[in-house]
Amino acid sequence: MGAGHGTIRGVQKDEGAATTSAELRTHNLARLLRAIHDGGGQLTRAELTRQLSLARGTATVLVRDLAGRGLIEELAGPVDATVQRARGRPTGVPSAHAAGPVALALDLRDDSFTVAAFELTGRCTVLDRQERDAGSGTGVLNDVAGRLKVYSRQFGCRVVGVGVAVPSPVSGSRMVQPTLPEWQDVDVAAALGRFGSAGSSGSAGSLASGPVLAGNDATLAGLAEARRGVLRGVSVALHLHVATGIGGVLLTGGLPVTGTHGSAGEFGHMPLTGNDGPCRCGSTGCWELDAGARGLLRAAGRPEQGDRMVQAEQVIAAAATDPRCRRALTHVAKALGRGIGALVNAQDPEAVGLSGLAADIYQADPDSVRAGYLSGLMRFRRADPPALLPSTLEDLGTLTGASELVFDAFLTPRGLGAWRSPGQKTA
Ligand SMILES: [Zn+2]
Repeated sequence: MGAGHGTIRGVQKDEGAATTSAELRTHNLARLLRAIHDGGGQLTRAELTRQLSLARGTATVLVRDLAGRGLIEELAGPVDATVQRARGRPTGVPSAHAAGPVALALDLRDDSFTVAAFELTGRCTVLDRQERDAGSGTGVLNDVAGRLKVYSRQFGCRVVGVGVAVPSPVSGSRMVQPTLPEWQDVDVAAALGRFGSAGSSGSAGSLASGPVLAGNDATLAGLAEARRGVLRGVSVALHLHVATGIGGVLLTGGLPVTGTHGSAGEFGHMPLTGNDGPCRCGSTGCWELDAGARGLLRAAGRPEQGDRMVQAEQVIAAAATDPRCRRALTHVAKALGRGIGALVNAQDPEAVGLSGLAADIYQADPDSVRAGYLSGLMRFRRADPPALLPSTLEDLGTLTGASELVFDAFLTPRGLGAWRSPGQKTA
């Protein structure tokens, strides 16, 4: 695999038909590994066997095969001992191999970046978090590429790809309307993809060569909730991620619906709350003017400078004692709820996930969010409105979503076919 151009449109589970017995076996290996991944390494072999409708003997052979390839190791019990076990004879728990595959995940922001490593079962280690002066987009990308080179050397051939969450609508992996002018039309996968190409640094022959895959940060926050968070198992879900602006995604069957180019879900740029002022996006009357961090700061009479998220958090915290902050919070909470109502009218989701500032606003003033929400809903929906579910992943959401992009590409017959465990370097 060369450093590829990644797009979230490529997200799909490989369910292609297998025809020969070798193909069938590879297909089943990928299915089983996917189930181990989705279960977070908490399911016993017996539970996985049932879930996938495999014969017990087949499952045993497949588990042995995956272990032999250095992809998993079977533990005597689940890592998380608080998980309730179904009754019956205990079997081993297939879990992440200590030297198994790693997805590097990058949360790229205007003024900071975070790099984390995710094991197959979703366990995450934050490797690096750096603040930068906003304004030097090229400098940030150079720094990030340098750090990725270091980490891909550290993890060597365990790295199966890099997932990148970007603060911009994307077309493929190109940032089409970033806030930093220097990032305009930058293809993130191409810009960072060179980190892993053999020979680029002369000395590191065993650098990883997995693909670099990029997606919008709010889209990836929603993907993370569908896989590891509050939207798990929800058939049609709407997710909203509020930061400086408002983004999100509709997910059906756990898969994001991202549009023709990957740039769907810009819900903040819809006129949902009756505002008619000009928006930074080029449109007018956008929802984020009322319900994003900018809306909150404006309503609280705070300058829109510096780290808007930090300032917005301060306004929310001060609302308990400061009447002006309290009024600003109520205004924004109602506007948030009203917009959600409009989107629910349009999309008919089973539940709505909230992350970033949306989760904070909901937790600080749930009554105002709910009042706005109900007022925005069509009458027939009000008796049983979709639940509003604040995220519990906190700032790991976007990183988790970025790692899922990588594992979606890896957990396929083709991805597994390219895997060489550290013990088989020369293969
Ligand atoms: Zn706008």
